Amino acid sequence: ETKAALDYVNEVFEVVKLRNPNEFEFHQAVEEIFDSLVPVFSKHPKYMHQGILERIVEPERLITFRVPWTDDKGKVQINRGFRVQYNSAIGPYKGGIRFHPSVNASIIKFLGFEQIFKNSLTGQPIGGGKGGADFNPKGKSDGEIMRFTQSFMTELSKYIGPDTDIPAGDIGVGAREIGYMFGQYKRLRGAYEAGVLTGKGIGYGGSLGRTEATGYGTVYFVEEMLKDKGLSFKGSTVIVSGSGNVSIYAMEKAMQLGAKVIACSDSNGYVYDESGINLETVKRLKEVEGKRIYEYVLEHPFAQYVEGCSGIWSIPCDIALPCATQNEINDCSAKVLVANGVKAIGEGANMPSTLAAINVFLESDILFAPAKAANAGGVAVSSLEMAQNSARLAWSFEEVDAKLRSIMTNIYHNSVKAAKEYGYPDNLVVGANIAGFIRVADAMIVQGVV
Ligand code: GLU
Repeated sequence: ETKAALDYVNEVFEVVKLRNPNEFEFHQAVEEIFDSLVPVFSKHPKYMHQGILERIVEPERLITFRVPWTDDKGKVQINRGFRVQYNSAIGPYKGGIRFHPSVNASIIKFLGFEQIFKNSLTGQPIGGGKGGADFNPKGKSDGEIMRFTQSFMTELSKYIGPDTDIPAGDIGVGAREIGYMFGQYKRLRGAYEAGVLTGKGIGYGGSLGRTEATGYGTVYFVEEMLKDKGLSFKGSTVIVSGSGNVSIYAMEKAMQLGAKVIACSDSNGYVYDESGINLETVKRLKEVEGKRIYEYVLEHPFAQYVEGCSGIWSIPCDIALPCATQNEINDCSAKVLVANGVKAIGEGANMPSTLAAINVFLESDILFAPAKAANAGGVAVSSLEMAQNSARLAWSFEEVDAKLRSIMTNIYHNSVKAAKEYGYPDNLVVGANIAGFIRVADAMIVQGVV
């Protein structure tokens, strides 16, 4: 049976590679999921017979479009926009929009594919989707950002809606961009459909706690994982890569739980502050002034700035939270972390560890919280935002935060349970992938071959 399951998985993976040549991030995400699912297929051959894997890897729809806009000098610029509507078995497509020069079909598909399982793990009624553009927001004026974002939405608006596809933010898309997108969507539709986007401002249909949700959720998840082994954030030394929305609120919650955060970064380099990162400075530099992280050392002269970002993993710490971007930890950095005595890794970013790095973590005696489970807090609270929009209500911060905490705790325990049930105790990669998969696969089976 195991052989049949293994053959099936390998066969489908070969087709994925043939059909999606050179899309390495996408192959990586698919391989990680597929490897975890072998025990599911050997235990329940029905999933093989129903062709679930062949169907689940093929997006229901992939939309690619031109995004024309005019820069401040009057020159016409063209970018490429994407939306992958990956899987709607358990709810309307849901997932963020990324504006970054690296965006291409491979990146959008890897993110959309992961989103299916992540969204399923939250227990909320949301399918998987993702979008973006190869637009570089760095150095653009506010006017350029607005014109680009409006043009992007002019095309995207044809494909989304509160019951079909609900985008949100991701790298390069925050409160400002969501505001511009919502304004343009509303104008095109001629109706106030608050539930079409999440991550909205509090004054026009947003949810309290959404900004904090991904970072807080990652820390809640890791805290639960540590608790199981008699450990906690209290008194521990933590490194958090990145300095965007996920990173800032992961640092905030870790600090609230009594940890000392000693380093964070951006795409140019990292700061190391032995006395503990001053979060107010990072928030002002990043959220208000739009500055680079090296400016931190101008205000905190005892801190160090080091150019290049992989060096951050050579700082000894108890807990490492990669919250920047995909493949930011390779096997070499993973080995350094382990050699320096790291006790736990919690992935706040999407796919921050390479497959080789994950293997290093799993083979050593440390706790590893995979992204799909650990960073699901953002999209979980997005789903709570949709619920509030549908009910025309607004919940308090405390109410949202309590729901987030219980969702993250449930994801942890469901993942542990699935890992045990399928013979991989303590392997949360396998546990999360299986728990996320089964809910979607079961919905697909009862809905027939569609
Ligand atoms: N971009 C986030 C993620 O990777 C949030 C998506 C959402 O809120 O829809 O899950």
